[in-house]
Order: sequence, then C-alpha cells, then structure tokens
Amino acid sequence: MRKIIIAGNWKMYKTIKDGQELVVALRRDLYQIENIDIVVCPPFTLLAYLADALETSNIKIGAQNVYWQEEGAFTGEVSSKMLLDVGCSYVIIGHSERRQFFGETNETVNKKIKAALKNGLIPIICVGETLVEREAGETFKVLEDHVRNGLVDISTDDALKIIIAYEPVWAIGTGRTASPQQAQEAHKYIRGLLVKIFNEDVASQIRIQYGGSVKPENTEELMKQPDVDGALVGGASLKADSFTEIVKKAGEVVK
Ligand code: PEP
Repeated sequence: MRKIIIAGNWKMYKTIKDGQELVVALRRDLYQIENIDIVVCPPFTLLAYLADALETSNIKIGAQNVYWQEEGAFTGEVSSKMLLDVGCSYVIIGHSERRQFFGETNETVNKKIKAALKNGLIPIICVGETLVEREAGETFKVLEDHVRNGLVDISTDDALKIIIAYEPVWAIGTGRTASPQQAQEAHKYIRGLLVKIFNEDVASQIRIQYGGSVKPENTEELMKQPDVDGALVGGASLKADSFTEIVKKAGEVVK
C-alpha cells in the first residue's frame, strides 16, 4: 500500500506573515488527517518560520530547490545540509520551471537527487512533457529520458525513498488538467520504467504524484487511478480552503 502524499508548491509567493497565516489555518483544519502525508514547500525565506509554526504537527516542510555541494563558494545556493538544518524533510527537484528558466538538466537533477538522499532529504523529482512534445507523440520518450537519466546510479535502497511527480508542462498553471486516464497512462508507464531500472518490488513501492492544475473538483478522480499516489499542487496550495479540501478529498479515496 502506497500512502497518498499531497504537497503544495508555493513557488515564489508569500511573505513570512502570509505564510504563517496559511500554515496556522492548515494546521487547524488538517490536524486529524492521518492517512495522507501532507507537505508544504514555501520559498527559502519562509522555511525557518514555518518549521517553527509546524513543529509537532502532521504537516512537513519541503524546499523547492537544492544545490548538490555541501558548502563552499557557491553564491546564491543552498545545500541539503542547510535544508535539513532549517527543518525540511523534502525537496522538489527538477521542476519544469527550473528546467525551463534556470537551465536545470537531467544531469543536475541527478546530482541534486544524490545530494538530497545522502543527507536524508526526500526528493520529489519532477518529470513531464511539454505540449509540443505531447502533440508530437513524444510523451513516453520524454518520460523515459527524464526518469532514466535523472535516476542514474541511484541504489535500490535509495530508490525506495524517492517520490516522482509526473507534471505535464501543459497542465501546470494553465487550468488544463490531464484527464484521469492520461495521468494513469503516464504513471503506469513511469512505473514500468522503474521496474526496468530497479525491480518489480521497488517499483511497486515508489510513490508517483500527479501535478498540473489539481483542484478540489478533480482530486478524487485523479487519486482513484491505480498508479496515482498523490498530488503536487501549485496554485490551489496557496489558499487554505482549496489545499485543505484537496487533502480531505484525497483522504476519502479508497483504492
Ligand atoms: C506546480 O507548480 O508544480 C503545479 C502543478 O502548479 P499548478 O497546480 O498551479 O498547475
């Protein structure tokens, strides 16, 4: 049984005060939820404050990026050790916005995954095709490229700790969600790749989240899909009401 994991990617939104208000509301509304792993991923500037606000709660904290070196002359970067130190348990790696705007490649994704795992952070690894790639019939090819090359030299023990987020780029922030069938098809394909890279047993334990315009209204149908094990939520994670509803709806899904 794979436990559903719902993570909120706040991107570059929210001041400390806004973030604190949001997590106070989430803490109040979600404290009874035990069957879902809940994560919020705010900007770096909020991490320490939210770690305090969420201490002893059922909501964990993740960062949105990490550098692979432990320390050194790398102006503007933050290491896995620093993220752990501030209270993070998770880190998003290889988000399409980082691939598109900040030169993230499969190679840098792979280095970041290894650094995160070495230091005990759980990487949420984003993969997914653009609209042009989907329309050219290249979805599986792109997924194979992102998954195989992102996971080079990851041991089977470490593989058990990772989370993959299938995020079709055309569905991120567009309001256009993949249909439950499209999501299931991609997730099944990714799980098949994980069988080839690792083995059946490991692949059956790795959680694969769907991301791309997840809202309360589409959560249930998406989460019901056999290979969809959670959601990475952008826009709808910025408001307590919608994120709470997504988590609760996911919690009601029986597979
Ligand atoms: C994301 O940023 O990972 C995301 C899925 O965004 P949205 O839910 O807004 O499409």
